[in-house]
Amino acid sequence: MAQRLHYETGDHITLKKGHPCGANHWEIQRVGVDMKLGCQGCGKIVWLSRIEFERRVRKIRVGEKWIAIVHHHPEEENEE
Ligand SMILES: [Zn+2]
Repeated sequence: MAQRLHYETGDHITLKKGHPCGANHWEIQRVGVDMKLGCQGCGKIVWLSRIEFERRVRKIRVGEKWIAIVHHHPEEENEE
């Protein structure tokens, strides 16, 4: 497991839920307050707020490996 706070354009990630097309493999195409993700299954573009992105992101590809990401948001867990 890894804790990661910085993401870059070109990173490949998975989310808590995959895309309805069946793929769960996204390329980060823009980093900012809103994150632009491209589905690697069908090519659809989705935008997530940074907060929503960090709640949903699960793994990031490093070389040939997928590394699990852990985020700690105790203040948000209390809200849910
Ligand atoms: Zn898709």
